[in-house]
Amino acid sequence: MSTWNARQLYQWLNFAQFRLLPACCVLCGRPAGRDLDLCRSCESHLPRLPEGCPRCARPLEGTLSCRQCPAAAAGLARTLAAHPYCEPIATLVTRFKYQQDLAAGRVLAEGLAARLPAHYQDAAWPELLLPVPLHPSRWRERGYNQAALIAGDLGRLLGLPVASRLLERVRVTPPQQGLPAAERRRNLQGAFALAVAPLPEGLTRVALIDDVVTTMSTAQALAEVLHARWPRLEVQLWCLARA
Ligand SMILES: [Zn+2]
Ligand SMILES: [Zn+2]
Repeated sequence: MSTWNARQLYQWLNFAQFRLLPACCVLCGRPAGRDLDLCRSCESHLPRLPEGCPRCARPLEGTLSCRQCPAAAAGLARTLAAHPYCEPIATLVTRFKYQQDLAAGRVLAEGLAARLPAHYQDAAWPELLLPVPLHPSRWRERGYNQAALIAGDLGRLLGLPVASRLLERVRVTPPQQGLPAAERRRNLQGAFALAVAPLPEGLTRVALIDDVVTTMSTAQALAEVLHARWPRLEVQLWCLARA
């Protein structure tokens, strides 16, 4: 009981963005010297994902076209990720997802928000941000949906609306980690649905929001659900890190 209350209080302070103390860097622990929990020195050392394939964000490594795309990114118009999934990004994501360290998530979301405008100089922004949904039982275990928190931060920083409940996870799926691509897709069959609530009209472009993208099978499964209702909808994917 007391653990739950402490966690709730911590989350409430985080959500409310109260600053009881000056911001401390999530990586080195020193005062951050600004209104972000990341000092400029640690920020300058974070690994950045090089410009890659516009559809799946895979680094192209000297080749001009991406051979993975036809299968890997079907249904997705573009994928944008801020970091490769390596240290210290992996540690920050783990702390964010599994250890209630919401400051680590906010630092990564702010980093992604700062990088996105460069990709939309000649392109229209998505009209709506759709976080990858968490099954209600997982949500109760964790206390929050990390993708919805990222989407909330991105929406606030970029001035874009977020629809956290438009997509639903209707089936609990075993963890995707370690499964080959084909099994990941099978694992996700029937896992997602559109909410029964009133659906927005006239949508042309949305961005799915996720923490880490590996094979893109989750994003593909969600794009299928969206395309079943809006066949011409342009579905993009934004994520903190690309594995
Ligand atoms: Zn630092
Ligand atoms: Zn590609």
